[in-house]
Amino acid sequence: MNEYDSSRMADLLGDSHEMELVDTPEEADVLLLNTCSIREKAQEKVFHQLGRWNKLKAKNPDLVIGVGGCVASQEGEAIRKRAPQVDMVFGPQTLHRLPQFIDASSNKIPVVDVTFPEIEKFDHLPAPKVEGASAFISVMEGCSKYCTFCVVPYTRGEEVSRPFDDVMVEIHQLADQGVREVNLLGQNVNCYQGQTKDGDIVDLAELISVVADVDGIDRIRFTTSNPLEFTDSLIQAFAEVPELVSHLHLPVQSGSNSILAAMKRGHEVDMYIEKIQRIKQLRPDISISSDFIVGFPGETDQDFEDTMNLIHEIGFDTSFSFVYSSRPGTPAAELEDNTPMDVKKKRLAILQDRIVQNAQQIGRRMVGKTETILVTGVSRKDPGKMMGRSENNRSVYFHNDDQSLIGKFVKIKIEEAFTNSLYGQLLLDEGVF
Ligand code: SF4
Repeated sequence: MNEYDSSRMADLLGDSHEMELVDTPEEADVLLLNTCSIREKAQEKVFHQLGRWNKLKAKNPDLVIGVGGCVASQEGEAIRKRAPQVDMVFGPQTLHRLPQFIDASSNKIPVVDVTFPEIEKFDHLPAPKVEGASAFISVMEGCSKYCTFCVVPYTRGEEVSRPFDDVMVEIHQLADQGVREVNLLGQNVNCYQGQTKDGDIVDLAELISVVADVDGIDRIRFTTSNPLEFTDSLIQAFAEVPELVSHLHLPVQSGSNSILAAMKRGHEVDMYIEKIQRIKQLRPDISISSDFIVGFPGETDQDFEDTMNLIHEIGFDTSFSFVYSSRPGTPAAELEDNTPMDVKKKRLAILQDRIVQNAQQIGRRMVGKTETILVTGVSRKDPGKMMGRSENNRSVYFHNDDQSLIGKFVKIKIEEAFTNSLYGQLLLDEGVF
């Protein structure tokens, strides 16, 4: 989501102030830090970076420094107290006001605006400009689930869906620029409820099927979902929409019912397993990834064992997994936490090791199969090779130097599996499309 927001800021300032991205902070007139507060470490990095930028401001007092994103949303005015070199503090829902903020800052008027003016920002953002064949598109923002560990509802606000017709206009703009793969984004994207001009409501499953009909769009992903509202119609989309990839990121966070209850996730392990089983009946080869929080307050050895059992049962391909990080202002920050950090770190290492083994096994199983790859470019390490992405999001390399293949789908016979990538032969007679 932050990557998407950053690209929209660049589009916006390109339009309003004819600004261009530069390669180093030393060359910039405006420095923007788009921040994440999901974990304490990410938050601390913000102030380290601002310290480095302070030296640039000492040399160039006209340099404008802005902090956006979730740390800005959470800390507001406190950022300027701790780092007075910052001219602008803006949240994820006010980034569309950047042109005014920059004008004010250029006149030495500091700005702090971390309000939640619903979804108005999308009415003020220019058409996206993309490079490459794959693009993100935000279809809904915020979250109303209030899991006890999570800052998102406080930093990005409650769930708000973009109108269906606005989303479709943007999808067509992307397709016109040569985009072949879209990733529909939202903190809780399966809760998408987009209103049409006629007042009807379109859910994520319907949105996916309409997007699949857009000329040029042949691959659809969506991130991130919540098991709770993973509806029957969304499961059915895996049967009916071939453009929907055979890869699903569905965070479960823990395999223990008591931890899920303490997290207020609103579902139990069985419900998660049942949904995955139904999807696997429709797409036996689908790869599943998840987020895990290890060492949530009160997590016992048995709770962790339950998580490992779930990992064994589902066979997760990849994960975003971290030791629990207490976030100020969240209910979980008040819970007693007696588990020593070294125990939590050991558990995390065991979990990650297991998932890496799963991923290697899945990679090995792909050897000998023919995969559809969206070609994304030339290998940086070996210019004689080109690279692309498989449906299950693996980097796939193949020998070729025909740059006209970039942005097209090709068939590759997989010959070798490595830890994070695959190598194969281009099957030109199976078409380029
Ligand atoms: S559903 Fe996801 S974004 Fe929403 S509160 Fe829970 S963890 Fe945070």
